[in-house]
Amino acid sequence: MNVFKVEGNWYKGNLHSHTTNSDGPFTPRRRVNYYQKRGYQFLCITDHNKVTEVEGEREEKCLVLKGAEYDVMLDKGQSAHFVAINMKGDIVKTENTSKEEVIRQIKEQGAEIVFAHPCGSDLPLNAIFAVEGYIGLEVFNCNFYCREREKAYSTTYWDELLKKGQRIWGFASDDGHGPQGTPMGEDMGCCWIMVKASSLSADSILAAIKEGNFYSSYGPAILDFQIEERECYGKTSPVKKISLISDKRRKDFDKKNCLFSQFEFKLKGNEKYLRLECTDENDCIAYSNPIFMDNRK
Ligand SMILES: [Zn+2]
Ligand SMILES: [Zn+2]
Repeated sequence: MNVFKVEGNWYKGNLHSHTTNSDGPFTPRRRVNYYQKRGYQFLCITDHNKVTEVEGEREEKCLVLKGAEYDVMLDKGQSAHFVAINMKGDIVKTENTSKEEVIRQIKEQGAEIVFAHPCGSDLPLNAIFAVEGYIGLEVFNCNFYCREREKAYSTTYWDELLKKGQRIWGFASDDGHGPQGTPMGEDMGCCWIMVKASSLSADSILAAIKEGNFYSSYGPAILDFQIEERECYGKTSPVKKISLISDKRRKDFDKKNCLFSQFEFKLKGNEKYLRLECTDENDCIAYSNPIFMDNRK
């Protein structure tokens, strides 16, 4: 499936955020208003190990998805975080609940799992490879603690898992906490996903995300990305670099410091999938999801 071929409307949202119900600085109500004022159309609230209800007057313009961020233990004792999107209520979990049981209970509610900040959690690739049941990774997480340690990017993990044949999506998530000692809001409203869905409802947004019908960004916009036979082409907002990443290679293209917004490239023809990154003049990046050659319609 190619998000630039399917019918629907674009909706901007963020899938990872904390409130005063765990370690965030804002109440759930204030958090939703904050995102709505910045043009976000949906927000998933993901407090640590609990599902948060948003009380008070509902802002109709911003859809609130219920979620949570669960601590789980991987096979060799590593600690990982799963972001669960579109939860109905809390699961039954103690420190000793296995990751399989956490995944089972999340899926039982009809929710989906994004593997949060693998680089920020210092996880080895094989620990992630052993996990089944999630739909994608946070390839960019702008949480202050990840950025401070230069561990915001997890694209290397994504590429390695894609090369191994996993069909997983890449998410850019705020993971806003507003830590003490830094300006409040520094890690909020920084990045987003643009989802193409039939309507702004929880079911419709979740179905589109599950299909990979979105792209992630913290700057540029991807307006079109198509693959025809042995070439690919597309449009973006003005960028200084386009990168095409396949299972075989990564190629970067620029126009010697000139900004451009259209591209057209030849392919080798032996790629199993292709994904696009574009970088704007502020060094901010947008990430398309991979288009798999056997499912590119
Ligand atoms: Zn986390
Ligand atoms: Zn978080």
